[in-house]
Amino acid sequence: MSLARSLLLKASRSAWLADQFRRRAFARRAVRRFMPGEDLGSALDAAAPLASAGLGTVVTALGERVTNRAEAEAVRDHYLQVLDEVQRRGLPTQPSVKLTHLGLDVDRALCAASLRALADRARATGSFVWVDIEESQYVDATLDVFRRVRAESDRVGLCLQAYLRRTPADLESLLAMGASIRLVKGAYREPAAVAFQDTHGIDAAYERLAERMLRAVTGLEGGLPVFGTHDLALVERIRGRARALGLGPGGWEVHMLYGIRTAEAHALARSGVAVRVLVSYGTHWFPWYVRRLAERPANVWFVVRSLVS
Ligand SMILES: Cc1cc2nc3c(=O)[nH]c(=O)nc-3n(C[C@H](O)[C@H](O)[C@H](O)COP(=O)(O)OP(=O)(O)OC[C@H]3O[C@@H](n4cnc5c(N)ncnc54)[C@H](O)[C@@H]3O)c2cc1C
Repeated sequence: MSLARSLLLKASRSAWLADQFRRRAFARRAVRRFMPGEDLGSALDAAAPLASAGLGTVVTALGERVTNRAEAEAVRDHYLQVLDEVQRRGLPTQPSVKLTHLGLDVDRALCAASLRALADRARATGSFVWVDIEESQYVDATLDVFRRVRAESDRVGLCLQAYLRRTPADLESLLAMGASIRLVKGAYREPAAVAFQDTHGIDAAYERLAERMLRAVTGLEGGLPVFGTHDLALVERIRGRARALGLGPGGWEVHMLYGIRTAEAHALARSGVAVRVLVSYGTHWFPWYVRRLAERPANVWFVVRSLVS
C-alpha cells in the first residue's frame, strides 16, 4: 500500500479532521464531485436521468458506527422511507446500507431486526437491499446478521472484498445459500495478515472470485453476480468470461460510484451491460470521502483546486 493511501486511510478516522472539513465551503465544493447533494431528494434527482439513459442506481445514506439505539432506529426508519420514495418515483433504485449504521455496535439483534424490516419493505415495494462491507473487524458480525436475514428473505445481497484473505471461503458459504454478491476490491486500511496489500495480488484475487461467481450462477448456485469496480480492463475480462459461459445481459451487473468514470459507465450500458451507479448522500461524508481520495491519491489535487476556485 502506498504511503499516501495509508496516510489518507488513517486520516479518514480522525474526528477532528472530519469536523474541520465539514465546516469548510471548499471541502463541500470538492465533495460535490462524488455526491450530487446531502439529502435523499438530490440522490433520487440524480437517479432519474440515469434511469432515462438506461442505468439503474443504488443509493446510500452516509454514516457508520452509530453508538446508540435511537440513532440506529432513525437510520432504519430513513431507509424504510427511501424504499417508499423510490417506489413512489418509479425509479430502478436499490438502497445499500452499512450494518454499523443500522446499529451493529449497539445491539446485533436490533440490527438484524432492522435489516429484516428493510428486506420486508423491499419485497413490498419491488426492490432489493444491499449490505456494504466495512473493516475486517466487522466481517464476522456482518456475515452473521446477513445470513440470518438471507435465510428468511431473498431481497438482500452482500458486498465482499477481494483483498481479504478470508473471502474465498466466505464466498463459498454465501453462494451455497443462493446469495447475491457485489464483489469489490476493498477500501479500508487492513493489516497484511488479513488482506493482500499489493495491487497485483488484489486484482488476481478479484478475478478468481469473479470467475467463481460467474460459474456459480451458470450452475444455478448463488444469486446475481455483481462487480463493483471502475477497473474497465477487469470488466472487459469479466464480460468475456460471462459470454463464454453463456450468461446473457442482465445475468450479471457492474456497479460504479457516482462521479467516477461516468462516461465509461454510460458507454458500458449502451453496449448492453447492466450497470448501476451508487449515489451517496448525507452530511457524514468525511470518512467516505477520504476513502475515495485514498483510492486515487491524485484526487487530492482536486481538493487543492477547490480551495482556490
Ligand atoms: C458500487 C461500489 C460499492 C462499493 N462498496 C464497497 C463496500 O461495501 N466496502 C468496501 O470496502 N469498498 C466498497 N467499494 C470500494 C472498492 O472497495 C474500491 O475501493 C473502489 O471501487 C476502487 O477500486 P476499483 O475496483 O475501482 O479499482 P482500482 O484499480 O482502484 O481503480 C481502477 C480505475 O478506476 C478509477 N478510480 C477508482 N477509484 C477512483 C476514485 N476514487 N477516484 C477517481 N478514479 C477512481 C481510476 O481511473 C483507476 O485507475 C465499492 C465500490 C463500488 C464501485
